[in-house]
Amino acid sequence: TRRKLVVGNWKMYGLRADLPQVRAIADAAAANPSVDAALCVPFTLIERAVAVAGALTIGAQDCHEADAGPHTGCTSAAMLVEAGARTVIVGHSERRADQHETSQDAWAKAAAARRHGLNVILCCGETEAERDAGRAERVVQAQIEKSVPEDASGDWFTLAYEPRWAIGTGRTPTPDEIASIHAIARAKMRQLVGDAAQGIRILYGGSVTGANAAAILAMDDIDGALVGGASLTAEKFVPIIRAAA
Ligand code: 13P
Repeated sequence: TRRKLVVGNWKMYGLRADLPQVRAIADAAAANPSVDAALCVPFTLIERAVAVAGALTIGAQDCHEADAGPHTGCTSAAMLVEAGARTVIVGHSERRADQHETSQDAWAKAAAARRHGLNVILCCGETEAERDAGRAERVVQAQIEKSVPEDASGDWFTLAYEPRWAIGTGRTPTPDEIASIHAIARAKMRQLVGDAAQGIRILYGGSVTGANAAAILAMDDIDGALVGGASLTAEKFVPIIRAAA
């Protein structure tokens, strides 16, 4: 059976003044050892977050696909490792929208992260127009086909299903709708990586809160949550960690 994994994604929020939140979230993670928890902070906070995080995993929100090179403003997987990150999000829909990243980019970034020993959380998910057109399943299947590394396995790789229309909107699919996409995602991964797919966790992301987490996380095929806004303070995030326990 797969352990539940709850990951916070701080996006472009977080200054040194927020480090007490990291510490409080780490305390809650330590108090709930049946749950795996991680917090993906801005690059600039990684080292300081690691210093106060104890056993809580600190991660990043992106990395470059190359090991090093003339790429102004970019951050390599090796740099993340040196800063103390142990995991990295790739292929987030905000990067697909803002930085025009593709599923192929996400694949290459996941491979770079893996080369340097980082765990990977790879995001997929349809837009509202795609869902309205009845294409959600096909979009997610195509993203998985193009972005999931062929050597993916549960000890380092996690998939996150984040429908774009649910991110930051307060709207979520029902737990049954999420579970049905997760089942389709797992079947597609089985085609790609075989039996290893059974050990890979599939998280749900998009407007997860302390109020809806228990119902979402109760579903067998939902192995955890990727949380944006409700991960920014311990007050909001800790109930989600507890709901996964
Ligand atoms: P919200 O939880 O703020 O909807 O964000 C979800 C998300 O994009 C996490 O990566």
